[in-house]
Amino acid sequence: MVTSQQLQLLAPLSGVLMALDNVPDPVFASRLIGDGLCIDPTSQVLCAPLAGVISNLQHTGHAISITGENGVQVLLHIGLDTVNLGGKGFTPLVMEGQQVAAGQALIEFDADYIALHARSLLTLMLVVSGEPLVPLEPGSGLVECGQPLLRLQLAATEAVAEDQTGAAQFSEPQILPNANGLHARPAAVFAQAAKGFAATIRLHKQQGSANAKSLVAIMALQTVHGDSVHLSAAGVDAEQALTVLSELLASGCGETVTAVAVEPQAIAAPEQAATDVLRGVCASPGSAFGHVVQLSESALQLAEFAADSHSECERLNQGLAEATGALQVLCDNAPGKAQAEIFKAHQELLQDPDLLEHAFALIEQGKSAAFAWQSATQATSALFKSLGNRLLAERALDLEDVGQRVLKLMLGVQDSALALPDQAILIAEQLTPSQTAGLDTRKVAGFATVGGGATSHVAILARALGLPAICGISAQVLALANGTPVVLDADLGTLHLQPAPERIKQLDNLRERQHQRKQQDLQQAALAACTRDGQRIEVSANIASLAEAEQAVTLGAEGVGLLRSEFLYLDRSSAPSHDEQVATYSAIARAVGTEHNLVVRTLDVGGDKPLAYVPMDHEANPFLGMRGIRLCLERPQLLREQFSAILASADLTRLHIMLPMVTQLSELRMARQLLEEQALALGIKALPKLGIMIEVPAAALMADLFAPEVDFFSIGTNDLTQYTLAMDRDHPRLASQADSFHPAVLRLIATTVKAAHAHGKWVGVCGALASETLAVPLLLGLGVDELSVSVPLIPAIKARVRELDFAACQTLAQQVLGLESAEQVRAALLPLQQPMTVLEY
Ligand code: PEP
Ligand code: MG
Repeated sequence: MVTSQQLQLLAPLSGVLMALDNVPDPVFASRLIGDGLCIDPTSQVLCAPLAGVISNLQHTGHAISITGENGVQVLLHIGLDTVNLGGKGFTPLVMEGQQVAAGQALIEFDADYIALHARSLLTLMLVVSGEPLVPLEPGSGLVECGQPLLRLQLAATEAVAEDQTGAAQFSEPQILPNANGLHARPAAVFAQAAKGFAATIRLHKQQGSANAKSLVAIMALQTVHGDSVHLSAAGVDAEQALTVLSELLASGCGETVTAVAVEPQAIAAPEQAATDVLRGVCASPGSAFGHVVQLSESALQLAEFAADSHSECERLNQGLAEATGALQVLCDNAPGKAQAEIFKAHQELLQDPDLLEHAFALIEQGKSAAFAWQSATQATSALFKSLGNRLLAERALDLEDVGQRVLKLMLGVQDSALALPDQAILIAEQLTPSQTAGLDTRKVAGFATVGGGATSHVAILARALGLPAICGISAQVLALANGTPVVLDADLGTLHLQPAPERIKQLDNLRERQHQRKQQDLQQAALAACTRDGQRIEVSANIASLAEAEQAVTLGAEGVGLLRSEFLYLDRSSAPSHDEQVATYSAIARAVGTEHNLVVRTLDVGGDKPLAYVPMDHEANPFLGMRGIRLCLERPQLLREQFSAILASADLTRLHIMLPMVTQLSELRMARQLLEEQALALGIKALPKLGIMIEVPAAALMADLFAPEVDFFSIGTNDLTQYTLAMDRDHPRLASQADSFHPAVLRLIATTVKAAHAHGKWVGVCGALASETLAVPLLLGLGVDELSVSVPLIPAIKARVRELDFAACQTLAQQVLGLESAEQVRAALLPLQQPMTVLEY
């Protein structure tokens, strides 16, 4: 076909024009998808650059393709990596298949939200059908939406003849490993590779299929992670095309993907494949198959005004008293101390003077008790949420929960027991701690919430109940119909919709194998953690309460490698007295005993852990601000009091004191001086061992200078990872990248161990990396002397050590240090992992 027409493309947005070469994305900049231009938008509605039909609208709303009547295909892509936003911030105004006029509004977008949550707002207009183009404007400067920007030369485009000789051949089905399916960039890489073959090639997903050489057609298939796809090809080079393109699909088409291990029999036939995966963050580990049950609370009806303020005051007092009583029952029946403490904190909230003053003042102004109480709790919760502090925002949820409890008591509203089917997977915008504690674990198999965080009280309660849970999942989840079958894989933070029967069976088998393995590890928990070739490593516990210390001892802990002392004093409005602190440390020291180490970390507050009675200024970057030892040295009296209380346990255990967040040698020296002064004042001659956390890269890099001045190091991989990779440890969208297996973190661990051993000092790891069975051979191989792990995992970590060969671990560790990425490190370690602990998708 030969034509000699020309076509003008209009600016889809107002903004600043940029050449494609300057786009910080190699696939777009290399014009692999197509030639075109880029605009940094100043307007927020994307408009059609030409008349045509909407040939593809991505379900996430961030990209759209238009096919003109002359066959020209133009792709518009708002922002970079915006596929990850899962549709948030985009409002499509048109539908697929719809005819649109040039200049017609296509997608409205929230520029602020996208700028904050995606890599970039840079928006691309690309001619994917390949016509040569001539710019009508200089390559940069301001442009107005609707202004002509490009002229396409439609002449002399010869269609390349496809070879369709011979019968079609088919590839094996394969599971798509790309986190967001074949979106624009991997689809472009795939289509480009397909164009290199003469054969006719199609990509199939379920009943649908697409021309594998057409980017737009591939995008129109709307594939997602975990989809089962296969290829067909007909023509002279069909066989070669299938081999090359299958490999390309498996490798992620240019995107970094983690290998998807699939047992051959577990591959679903295309028509049975999983149709979707929603992603969140793990709040409580485990996995479960079940059926969706949506939870939503209807708003309570209440009157704003009341005639008699005296009786309204009484009504509020009575509501408060009844709620306190109900919370006491929850405390008394709580399965552990940590859970009981959550409801104790709720009782404290009911006595908060500011809150009560606010509510009673409103009653005095003529408001009803219910209205006054609701206004007061809502105002305080809004305040907590506005402070930009994640922990306080989570406490807002506690306040709303307790507020609702009192309100219902005042209004006489009974919580009707939810009739749940067996294996219910609860879905909610947000669960409250009360709702979570009240879940019937015989019926509920797990839950997923849009809100919440991995450190929220809801997450703590879910872990205590042994319920797998995900938080921060896309709001799409709220649209799922009740009864939808799902697999909740909290470990991976995913919810698989409509799972194939093979997956459910796999999950059942896995759970059975995990259960047997757990029982076996438990029976051997008291044995030492010694490799097959005789290398011993100490496995101790990370604790935050006396209850956990006691549990750790019964599970085979060889001491406590980290007592997070701040957790003893969070969620209260005044500092604990000296006697209370002494009583707490002594009880824990007795539980640990004189045969084992007790490592007490001094207060690590600030950052994500505010302490109500240590007022702190608002900080733009609290993780980079007054945290840990910095804060304590600024308020030395706090540290003196804590040292003095800890020192009272000196004879009850092998006492160690550890300083958090140490960055400078001067911090260590100042803290040591304070400790010595307190010991002198108490007449204690033998100072306890003093060590530091290695959790700031500066400390790891200067470990050779710190080592002579400490008795031990303990590596906090949680913070070390966030500071080394410059990724907030709790960022829901960076969760998969903020990975402690990153070689940069591992190199810092290696540096620390080398420096410590050169000075005869021991090194522990107390960050979450130590609690991962996958990491055990690596940490052993790097020469770490102690693993301090989350209490329930002690038996599993000890058992893992017993399966390993130390010499092999050393070789492996050296190899891994030379790798490029966390994915590569995980891939190198995976073959060593017990197959029974991994769910194979
Ligand atoms: C760490 O940072 O790895 C650590 C153990 O300390 P925390 O998690 O309490 O900050
Ligand atoms: Mg830390």
